[in-house]
Amino acid sequence: FAPWDDPAASPLIRFRNVTKRFGDFTAIDDLSIDIFEREFFALLGPSGCGKTTMMRMLAGFETPTEGVIELDGRNIAPVPPNKRPVNMMFQSYALFPHLSVWDNIAFGLRRTDMAKDAIAARVEDMLKLTRLERFSRRKPHQISGGQRQRVALARSLAKAPKLLLLDEPLGALDKKLRQDTQFELMDIQESTGTTFVIVTHDQEEAMTVASRVAVMDQGRIVQAAPPARIYEEPNSVYVADFIGEVNIIDGNAAYQGDDSYRIDWAEGLEPLTAHSGRRIESGRCHLAIRPEKIAISAERPADAANAVQGKVHDIAYLGNISTYHVALPGGQLIKAQTANNRRIARRSFTWEDPVWLSWTATAGVLLAE
Ligand code: ATP
Repeated sequence: FAPWDDPAASPLIRFRNVTKRFGDFTAIDDLSIDIFEREFFALLGPSGCGKTTMMRMLAGFETPTEGVIELDGRNIAPVPPNKRPVNMMFQSYALFPHLSVWDNIAFGLRRTDMAKDAIAARVEDMLKLTRLERFSRRKPHQISGGQRQRVALARSLAKAPKLLLLDEPLGALDKKLRQDTQFELMDIQESTGTTFVIVTHDQEEAMTVASRVAVMDQGRIVQAAPPARIYEEPNSVYVADFIGEVNIIDGNAAYQGDDSYRIDWAEGLEPLTAHSGRRIESGRCHLAIRPEKIAISAERPADAANAVQGKVHDIAYLGNISTYHVALPGGQLIKAQTANNRRIARRSFTWEDPVWLSWTATAGVLLAE
């Protein structure tokens, strides 16, 4: 499933050079993106980068200042919110406290010309989809937070929208429940085939649920790609830094042929070697390396493409992994992560231990200045 890589695929949603200004403030800046049917598309970015504004434009609560948003190839600007095949689920859920679960789900359907028994059948389907059959007679205050979240989801899917917008849908749940609910959300998205666009502050959540993650910065999408590609091949220091942990090494790159670069980076330290299929200009560069791609050892590994000596400065033991902060002679700190899956049979390190850090030529992503 990768319609974004298929030039013949036509998108469900298309932003064409959309700009949204509030007064002289530009909230969305000449943004273009295609979102496809059955996608689970996540918008990720710091507060104020424009995520909610994009959702509000899709829902019809805001109109672009410039540019066009198309749904199925048609400009949706003239279509009022209640006539769009789009629904929005808010973090607060906005359930009616005096109505039962059943009636909450039926509410929107009753305001259409749908026949009574068709409504009943639809509500039953939604109850089954969200595993709420047993709770249909209860009021919102008689069910748990996770169940309320499912009622809100059932209600927003009842009218079978083509596009469901989810604004921090799991924000009110605690971490454990949130993680379980992420999988439910994926199952429900898949079984209904509805296109989901989710806004979340939680990058792990975006990585878990989404078919593609769009990383935003100041009203623009910097990179939109499947989670693994965003993580393994970030297109900028901004994206590398926003998703997961990363070491950024600044240096000077010189191309030596065969996809190989020599990187001079610190006085008195051996130059680094990086392989990159993506060409960059020789000159100032950044090498982004994930901590788990850096090995830590007592001796210099014999055949490492890159090796540098330092001293353990800090250790964070997180159960499944440990993160070491290693200080290099120049004072720079490098993070290296080890998986604790061998019952620490091998030697582990402690503060001030001299250690070697090493990584392969393809471990890092080479980024132009
Ligand atoms: P958060 O994660 O905090 O919800 P966000 O990425 O959703 O942030 P938006 O709510 O889209 O950000 O807002 C983007 C920018 O546009 C912000 O700087 C915000 O102050 C501004 N903005 C949004 N709506 C309006 C408005 N109606 N009038 C003026 N400025 C607005």
